Amino acid sequence: MEPALCNNCHRTTDIEVRESINVALDPELKARVKDGSLFVWECPYCGRRNLAVYQTLYHDPDARLMVWLLPGEAEPPAQVADAVKELEGYTLRLVREVGELVEKVNIHDAGLEDTILEMVKWVTRRELEAKNPEAAGAALKFMRLDGADHEMVFAFPLNGQMQLINVGFNVYEDARGILQRNPSVRPAEGFARVDKDWIEQFFR
Ligand SMILES: [Zn+2]
Repeated sequence: MEPALCNNCHRTTDIEVRESINVALDPELKARVKDGSLFVWECPYCGRRNLAVYQTLYHDPDARLMVWLLPGEAEPPAQVADAVKELEGYTLRLVREVGELVEKVNIHDAGLEDTILEMVKWVTRRELEAKNPEAAGAALKFMRLDGADHEMVFAFPLNGQMQLINVGFNVYEDARGILQRNPSVRPAEGFARVDKDWIEQFFR
């Protein structure tokens, strides 16, 4: 348990904090990560539902996926880099927000690679921006694959509302080709951030 501050009434409550989430040991936790409910707590004083902010390690051993949620600008301790060298064939990711963790799990569940999806998002942001300058730099989140053609569905905020956009799977295949031709475009060793800032190091 850790004290948490309510956003509404500013009173403090002890909330349950999970330092790790192993979805092989606790399969029902995966659904609660994906719908975000695992990170929501209700204030006993005023009823406000708040988002819990704490660090946790999401581990799916069957999928060989570890996503470390480290809120804010915190960096992982140096000794972790050595510990994860043992983990052959794992995808190791570092994220700052619950929404990013959920997206990583959704990407993995869809059988896609997040590096390629960041390239897809980069292309899609440019197309959105060309149609509507207010969409410049839109924070696109992958939601799911849709229909027989496996269109990629992304959500993004625009003028205070959530919008959805479908992107053809051919864009994913093109992006995969671009990354294959550019082997220097790859994540850092160990727990790596793969996000908008990452792809923009390589493509401007
Ligand atoms: Zn409250």
